[in-house]
Amino acid sequence: MSVLVCENVEKKFKNFAAVKGVSFVANEGECFGLLGPNGAGKSTLISMIYGSMSRSSGQIKVLGLDPEQQGRKVRAQTGVVTQENNLDSAMSVIENMRMYSRYVGVPPKECEARIDELLDFMLLSHKKDSVIESLSGGMKRRLVFVRALLARPKLVILDEPTTGLDPAVRQLLWDKINELKKTGTTILLTTHYMDEAERLCDRLVIMDEGVVRSEGAPKELIQKLAPGSNLEDVFLKITRRKLSEND
Ligand code: ADP
Repeated sequence: MSVLVCENVEKKFKNFAAVKGVSFVANEGECFGLLGPNGAGKSTLISMIYGSMSRSSGQIKVLGLDPEQQGRKVRAQTGVVTQENNLDSAMSVIENMRMYSRYVGVPPKECEARIDELLDFMLLSHKKDSVIESLSGGMKRRLVFVRALLARPKLVILDEPTTGLDPAVRQLLWDKINELKKTGTTILLTTHYMDEAERLCDRLVIMDEGVVRSEGAPKELIQKLAPGSNLEDVFLKITRRKLSEND
């Protein structure tokens, strides 16, 4: 089943086109990568998928819904992990998760069990009563994963989820992302780490200057564009250009 469909999506800011006719489909249980250098249009596209930005033309469907028309419904079924954690630093882990559970409509009867299950999943049970400001950066990021999963989303958007994390936390998050995929959750992943994309993505697009330059499974792209090498070489071949003001 197609969980996310983008068809010829465009976004113009006045005269500047940031996204120029992007099309792709992400299926159930798939990790789909959205790769590209700074300024490629990834964040703009994600904002349109999440319904927080209108598009100039084209179609987007998330679980069959148009995020521009049915943004609340789309957001209720979509979890997001960004680099900024927006956790309330003066409150405890459990208080933060209770507050967010109410916000996303987790039924009160299920709330405590769901939080416990996810804290356990992200190896944070021992921090349940700790205040946010006492957590390490890696713990905060794991807690943002917990928060993103509370409402059992069918689509999870991971926007550079492991940037700035140490290797052990990255490995843990990779394992958890693979476990999520097995439960049928669809993942949309942006990352600047090509090893991460190669490891996690079933398929991906490489965007540059608002257009999709290449699409396929990591192995296919490597075979086609950089045989015997890796995704980093594919990426550089496709996007190599002078550094611009976006970099
Ligand atoms: P990425 O996430 O791939 O780094 P962005 O989607 O943030 O790229 O940006 C794509 C392009 O659109 C960039 O050139 C950026 O400067 C431009 N852009 C993004 N948001 C706006 C905005 N609100 N107004 C004007 N230009 C914007």
